[in-house]
Amino acid sequence: MQLRFTPEQAAFRDEVRAFIRERLPRDIRERMRAGHPARKQDTIAWQRILNERGWAAPHWPRAYGGADLDTVRRLILVEETFRAPAPEPLVFNINLLGTVLLRYGTEAQKRFFLPRLANADLWFCQGFSEPGAGSDLAALRTRAVRQGGHYTVDGQKIWTSAAHHADWMFALVRTSQEQRKQQGISFLLIDMRSPGVSVRPIIGLDGEHHLNEVFLDGVQVPVANLVGEEGAGWECAKYLLGAERSMVAAVGLCQERLDYARAMAGATVQAGRRLADDPRLAAELATLGAEIRALELTNWRYLLDPGIERSQPGFASVLKLKGSELLQEASTLVARLAGPAGIERRDLATDAALHPASAALPRYFYYRARTIAGGSSEVQKDILARLLLG
Ligand SMILES: Cc1cc2nc3c(=O)[nH]c(=O)nc-3n(C[C@H](O)[C@H](O)[C@H](O)COP(=O)(O)OP(=O)(O)OC[C@H]3O[C@@H](n4cnc5c(N)ncnc54)[C@H](O)[C@@H]3O)c2cc1C
Repeated sequence: MQLRFTPEQAAFRDEVRAFIRERLPRDIRERMRAGHPARKQDTIAWQRILNERGWAAPHWPRAYGGADLDTVRRLILVEETFRAPAPEPLVFNINLLGTVLLRYGTEAQKRFFLPRLANADLWFCQGFSEPGAGSDLAALRTRAVRQGGHYTVDGQKIWTSAAHHADWMFALVRTSQEQRKQQGISFLLIDMRSPGVSVRPIIGLDGEHHLNEVFLDGVQVPVANLVGEEGAGWECAKYLLGAERSMVAAVGLCQERLDYARAMAGATVQAGRRLADDPRLAAELATLGAEIRALELTNWRYLLDPGIERSQPGFASVLKLKGSELLQEASTLVARLAGPAGIERRDLATDAALHPASAALPRYFYYRARTIAGGSSEVQKDILARLLLG
């Protein structure tokens, strides 16, 4: 089992670091370093810079605008982006929908959508969850009835990240009622400008608008926007959720927050002493560093061994569980170190932050959601209990 980079892989990592150093706009990096989420324009600007190099969708085939990168190089790119920190290329476009279209899309869908997804010319959101269908996603009730060349879609989605920015949504809808609830679900691409689509904001604990409710009221969707077979949307959804193996642990995000905590501890002086010189804090930072390193190595073991899911089932759940807990620990530590400066206060005239650490607390709140989104910790523990304890 390889747990050390080959010279070629190390050279690739250096190439990525140099690229990020040269090309990542400074203002974007500084905003994100302070803990602010990437703005829409920042994500688009950085994704286009990466796309010039084929790195916006690094694992896609070159024919569709990718760079055909293998798993190791792709993960190096992802982790270095997190660690910079730079905006992550739009997950819904690249990792989720792009992956599904490459497998299940028609040639016409691939030719139209993939280049636009890679260049962020279109912004997609994910319409899966509904009130009453989150952990139990197959309980979804949004209906699509086929009438000639169109489906008419009625229902409601919830927790839809960035729907207020989106041009399109990929959605799971029910096209027939079958005995098994996983059957009769279809995967549709819905133009958010269609009549009957409305978006209502949900403001998070961090005070930011990331999430939304999306209402679909008699929305007409051309049959050409069906991905895969009608009624086989659950297969697309499972493929989409399973394909994202490399991202689940988010090691780079944990590492970036830890780096930031270390920098704060080094720069903050209290009662004449640097916080970093406090042995208890130093031990805490070292313990967290060791746990993140263990997560990193476990993530590599998972990614480099294609048979691991069979030999050690539940591995992905361990990575999701541990990665989200460590990210919460690291952001909690940053919030503690920032103290009162971590409470966001802005200059009313310029809207600039009054203190460089002022995003620490909003970020702490934002990462509370990490143990819910993408499969809650309780559900991961259920999976592990079933697999390991029978
Ligand atoms: C920040 C954020 C962003 C999101 N973005 C999107 C998005 O873009 N698109 C989208 O479609 N969805 C999105 N979601 C929704 C997310 O997928 C759901 O929140 C998640 O699947 C949980 O579903 P739920 O909220 O309905 O909670 P529920 O499923 O109702 O769960 C409620 C509680 O019960 C527990 N629970 C549920 N089932 C079990 C069980 N079997 N055993 C033990 N405990 C259980 C859960 O752990 C949780 O604590 C997002 C969520 C968050 C927090």
